[in-house]
Amino acid sequence: MHPRNPYINPPDFASLADAYPALKTQLMRLANNIFTIDFKNELSQRCLTEALLHRDFNLTIAVPDDRLCPPVPNRLNYILWLQDILSATALITSDSEAQNLLGIDIGTGSSAIYPLLGCQSDQRWAFIATDVDEKSLDFARRNVQTNLLDSRISVVKSDPTGPILLRVLQDDTLLPQGVDSFSFTMCNPPFYSSREEILRSAEAKEFEPTAVCTGADVEMITPGGESAFVCRIVRESLEARTRCRWYTSMLGKMSSLSEVVTLLRESRIDNYACTEFVQGQTRRWAVAWSFDDVRLPDSLARTHSPALQSIMPPRNTRHKAN
Ligand code: SAH
Repeated sequence: MHPRNPYINPPDFASLADAYPALKTQLMRLANNIFTIDFKNELSQRCLTEALLHRDFNLTIAVPDDRLCPPVPNRLNYILWLQDILSATALITSDSEAQNLLGIDIGTGSSAIYPLLGCQSDQRWAFIATDVDEKSLDFARRNVQTNLLDSRISVVKSDPTGPILLRVLQDDTLLPQGVDSFSFTMCNPPFYSSREEILRSAEAKEFEPTAVCTGADVEMITPGGESAFVCRIVRESLEARTRCRWYTSMLGKMSSLSEVVTLLRESRIDNYACTEFVQGQTRRWAVAWSFDDVRLPDSLARTHSPALQSIMPPRNTRHKAN
């Protein structure tokens, strides 16, 4: 879990339910004054997401029953890591006059969770949010409007048969006046290559072992799975290069991270970063890369996880010999 993530410790469900009374019906008593919720129950999960967004981010969202309901702590990990990258490379400064940052969220889903969290966490962020699924796009637009963020988040339909990113990146009309590049892209890709892989990984308890997953096929399945999806983004970034400062993606499997890093190295991109998010029993990985000269400190670009050492980027921090 990211050290700035306020959900490092589980929430006090009773006080959360005071702040969001709809959660009261989902509480289960563990001991005298200690409550939890049933994480395997879909309604309880949805209610928890709504409660945390309402109490901690002043956000209201509606997600249809047949689409993913995002867990807030996990989504916040990615936002916080991205904030670290942008501030370490001087894209975010303490100077309040600093230029606003425009990011692209690829596959925003019905919740538009990343743009909503990103905008509420930093007043200078704005987003282009894409998806291919009409139902998700419709709900994402409504969620943006409900939270009065239409001036900072534009929801855009992507063509499922076209490029994932290039059309948006090359569209000058999406950039505010005076801005000639995007600051970042982010993505939580469809993880699986097929229905069979979903069933196999459920048996192997690879993903979300304790939680329910209400995703539709379009949200969870993509040809070749997540690594093929993110490798397509890498190839598109090779054309767009410095049009965006940081390209990033989350990944659900460690093996996908290795495949993406192999492609980055083959493409002679050595300015990259890897991280691991550990959330209870769930593990996720994320990768970031850039065509800029500005490098990240090792503390951000490299993780200590022994299993990942062979795919770590080169060290950037010089150590002085005595
Ligand atoms: N960002 C949300 C949803 C992630 S699920 C969250 O984190 O909860 C993956 C999303 O990618 C789905 O909404 C799916 O419709 C979308 N998607 C699939 N293929 C896509 C493509 N080619 N371009 C943009 N989005 C795509």
